[in-house]
Amino acid sequence: MTKLKIAVQKSGRLSEDSLKLIKECGIKFNNGRGTLKAEASNFPIEFLFLRDDDIPGYVEDGIADLGIVGENVLVEKSKGLDINKRLGFSKCRLSLAVPKSENYTDINYFEGKNIATSYPNLLQKYLDEKGINADIHEISGSVEIAPGIGLAEGVCDIVSSGSTLFMNGLKEVEVIFKSEAVLISSPDMPADKKEILNKLIFRIDSVLNSKNNKYILLNAPNDKVEEIIEILPGMRSPTVLPLAQEGWSSLHSVINEDEFWDRIEKLKDAGAEGILVVPIEKMIQ
Ligand code: ATP
Ligand code: MG
Repeated sequence: MTKLKIAVQKSGRLSEDSLKLIKECGIKFNNGRGTLKAEASNFPIEFLFLRDDDIPGYVEDGIADLGIVGENVLVEKSKGLDINKRLGFSKCRLSLAVPKSENYTDINYFEGKNIATSYPNLLQKYLDEKGINADIHEISGSVEIAPGIGLAEGVCDIVSSGSTLFMNGLKEVEVIFKSEAVLISSPDMPADKKEILNKLIFRIDSVLNSKNNKYILLNAPNDKVEEIIEILPGMRSPTVLPLAQEGWSSLHSVINEDEFWDRIEKLKDAGAEGILVVPIEKMIQ
């Protein structure tokens, strides 16, 4: 039977969320501590647990059919791979930073300077676009200490909250790339594998959609129902059910997380009462 092999990070910032997503897709597997391979019991997929840097290469070589990796690593390794799905976790940015005490005005600051990074290709591309000549010093980790030990005048590193930079006496001055975890595959996947991949993507979509949406229930006097329907977006239109109490209805709908607070206020103002908001486990569109 055809199976897909998916490469996921063995341990690090992507691992937990990658495995959580797979579990939320209803795929069951055992991954004992330290195992390098595991097989799902209820879906034709096998897992390879690897260092994230190696994942694009393994997918390109066909050792794995799919991978979950940060877009920053994918683009840095610049393999001709497809992004099948943006996964919405491990969001971070690749940024240039300089010592806090520096008087930074614009990108020309870096002309002729030394910059330490683990992302030489992404950085070079950015500097070329800006027409800046700088010396890129490639190091594989602990980039943020480079200015403190005199190795470089600036750094280009992954940032999420900025606290690591701050603790090392640096300030973020330019964002050069925005990243999140992505599902990747080789563009030339045989049809039988592609079929399984499509099933996996369908499940991932339903999980991601459900995360961005909430189920909302509320009560309203009948004469306010029209107005409230205007405020509630819904997948089609809200369900309206009569309440036992004469003259009142219950409305059910789905609301997007982004517009949630704004709509809730409008609903209250329009006369909605007893508003309940509940998570959705899966959402098939
Ligand atoms: P490995 O041992 O597998 O090589 P690593 O140390 O290179 O791991 P991690 O620090 O686990 O990598 O980061 C993996 C990916 O998670 C990064 O490439 C990036 O996409 C994302 N990431 C890194 N730092 C953060 C952060 N602070 N917040 C969110 N996502 C991050
Ligand atoms: Mg790595």
